[in-house]
Amino acid sequence: CGVSMSELSRPCRMMLLVNPQSGKGQALTLYNNHIQRMLNEAGVPHTLVITERQNHARELVKEADLSQWDALVIMSGDGLLFEVINGLLDRPDWEEAIRTPLGILPGGSGNALAASVHHYSGAASAFSEELLVSCGFLLCKGLVSRMDLVSIHLPSSPRLFSFLSLAWGFVADVDIESEKYRHVGAARFTVGTLVRLASLRASSIGPASVANKSLSGPPDSLLLPLDQPPPADWVVVQEEDFVLMLAMYQSHLAEDLFAAPGAIPDDGVIHLFYVRAGISRTALLKLFLAMEKGAHLATNCQHLVYTKVRALRLEPYSPKGIITVDGEVVEYDQTHKHIQTFQTLCEPS
Ligand code: ADP
Ligand code: MG
Repeated sequence: CGVSMSELSRPCRMMLLVNPQSGKGQALTLYNNHIQRMLNEAGVPHTLVITERQNHARELVKEADLSQWDALVIMSGDGLLFEVINGLLDRPDWEEAIRTPLGILPGGSGNALAASVHHYSGAASAFSEELLVSCGFLLCKGLVSRMDLVSIHLPSSPRLFSFLSLAWGFVADVDIESEKYRHVGAARFTVGTLVRLASLRASSIGPASVANKSLSGPPDSLLLPLDQPPPADWVVVQEEDFVLMLAMYQSHLAEDLFAAPGAIPDDGVIHLFYVRAGISRTALLKLFLAMEKGAHLATNCQHLVYTKVRALRLEPYSPKGIITVDGEVVEYDQTHKHIQTFQTLCEPS
């Protein structure tokens, strides 16, 4: 599958962080029914940590003595991994800390990275407990690969690191509105899409990111401060009405959304999709249904644009909206109100 792997040293001491509230609230039961025995049989000693609240995992990995651990494993949705990655990069020793092998077991409702890792392994698609068991086996084998992280600047929030996606418009709205459908588990995205289609706003326009503050942590090589114009060799997509903008760096956006079939974990590529206004609800629904098999690019939808980039800037134009990073809502600050252009910028490939 083009992903180069190395193996964890043995014996491997794992910290396994389980979020008891994630998904349908069954992560602990899933651990007891499947994972505990698999890890024991594979001879992998692990320490179970049950997260007690939001940011618990982030604080814990920020302070942890990482020399005690050969791997940090998250059993939750993507949200808990987002906390762990940002906690590691917030440490003074971030350069060393972020080399700690990380693992993910699908225990939430948004298990995009778990579904992506399963896909990279070359296995046929799997869902729910079957996906969990597959990821459990991969974990027992201890195979490790490198993974890209994307640096994200917002106008007035601290810098973030993202491993999955940046979304504005339809996808971000569905992700957040569908939180209320959490009890249906992974199907919440599908349910959310249908509900959202039923109430689709006529159109709206895109927001954006990228600023520069004095930074600790990894340096940014491709981004200019938000108050500076982008480099001359970037491509600008002029102001338009957009239905959605989705930047992805993993193959799956959810267990059943194979959004970026060409994605591999460590090639430095961002897969950028946007859908122009004017698309019918039927066509949009068709796109999302085709995405289950990764066939949306083959639908020849005239409103869908797909391109590969290394960096991008997204400038807010509509006064209200939702931006998500890895499925988590981030600041939506329309600082560039006076700029009448929506710009999606990329390096020439
Ligand atoms: P899901 O896919 O169900 O959304 P996530 O892994 O994204 O699962 O977790 C959702 C949020 O739950 C994360 O932002 C995390 O900080 C938070 N969280 C972690 N532990 C707890 C807890 N014990 N109670 C409530 N929220 C928690
Ligand atoms: Mg989540």
